[in-house]
Amino acid sequence: MTEIARLLAANSGYAAARANVADARPGRHLAVVTCMDARIDVFAALGLHLGEAHVIRNAGGRVTDDVLRSLAISSHVLGVDTVAVMQHTKCGLAGVSDEELRALTGADLGFYPIEHHAAALREDIAVLTETPFLGPLRVVAGFVYDVETGEIDDIVHWERPG
Ligand SMILES: [Zn+2]
Repeated sequence: MTEIARLLAANSGYAAARANVADARPGRHLAVVTCMDARIDVFAALGLHLGEAHVIRNAGGRVTDDVLRSLAISSHVLGVDTVAVMQHTKCGLAGVSDEELRALTGADLGFYPIEHHAAALREDIAVLTETPFLGPLRVVAGFVYDVETGEIDDIVHWERPG
């Protein structure tokens, strides 16, 4: 069976058992920005269930322009007021440079490599909290998830003053 056929076969069982979700607004007013790494089961690791959170994933779990685009909708249209940015140990974006990634991929892009998790999280959380159109956000946190132990290191915590 091809990978695509496996996906579709699994879906027929899932669709039959799935609970009905009528409301598109995340029940916990939460968005999680994290890496696409296959070792992170976001819902299980954070105790989340279907319908409770937006999960926005990319290489590195970095706050890119496209993450800002998604969060503009999350926060203004769908009631999200809390964001957790979750990087992780053993990330492919850590310890490499834009130059190396451009050479490796042939893509002339900014890859948002990570030199130190704490610094990268502070940088990303500053972008979120200083973006004028993300005014509805009240709380933003920065985590590092350990892919070996499953534990989270709570690195940054921001709350909008007032
Ligand atoms: Zn990663």
